Amino acid sequence: MTDKFQNFEIFLKSVDDDLKKIFDYQKEYIFCKKGCSLCCENGDYPLSQIEFEYLMDGFKNLNAGEQSIIKENIEKIKQEKQELYKCPFLINNACSVYSHRPFVCRTFGVLTEDAKGNPAFPSCAVHGLNFSQIYDKEKHHLSAELVEKNHFKIFPKIFRLSNKVIMNLPKAKELDINFGEAKRMIDFL
Ligand code: SF4
Repeated sequence: MTDKFQNFEIFLKSVDDDLKKIFDYQKEYIFCKKGCSLCCENGDYPLSQIEFEYLMDGFKNLNAGEQSIIKENIEKIKQEKQELYKCPFLINNACSVYSHRPFVCRTFGVLTEDAKGNPAFPSCAVHGLNFSQIYDKEKHHLSAELVEKNHFKIFPKIFRLSNKVIMNLPKAKELDINFGEAKRMIDFL
C-alpha cells in the first residue's frame, strides 16, 4: 500500500464490502462470470481525479506489452472520437487493472437507479444475463409480474450507486478523501 492511496484504499475496501452485500442479496438475478466483459465494451466510464490516479497506479504495474496495447487502444479511441467506447484497459476480455478499477466498474452488473429514479438495468439484461428474466423489453422496465411468474425469492431492490452517492458516503468524509474533478475516462487520458 502506498502512502498516497492509504485512505483511498481503506475507502475502496469499505465500498467493496458494501457492494458484496448488494451482489449477494441479488444473487439469484446475477450471472456475472470470468471472461464476460459486456460492461466494459460500450461506456464512458466516469471517474474522479483520485480514481484516475489510482487507475494509473495499476497501469504502472503492468508489463511493457500490456502498457503498449493500452496506449494503442487510447489512441484509437481518441481518433474515433466516440461518446461510448470499449475501455482501453480491457485486454483479452479481462480488466488489466482489476484491483485499481474505478467505482463505476465495481457496480457493473447490479440493478441501480438512473437520474430520474427509474431502474437502470445492466447492459447485459438484453443479452439474457443479469436481471433479464424480470426485464420488460417493451417497456424497458422492471416487471413485477415476471418476478412473481419466475418464482424469485426476493423482489429486487434498486440501489442508488452513482459516483456522487459513493463519494458522499460518510466513510469518505471520515477518511477525508479529496476526490477532485470528475469526468469521462477518455478525457483524463
Ligand atoms: S477499468 Fe476494467 S472493469 Fe473498468 S471498464 Fe475498464 S476494463 Fe472494465
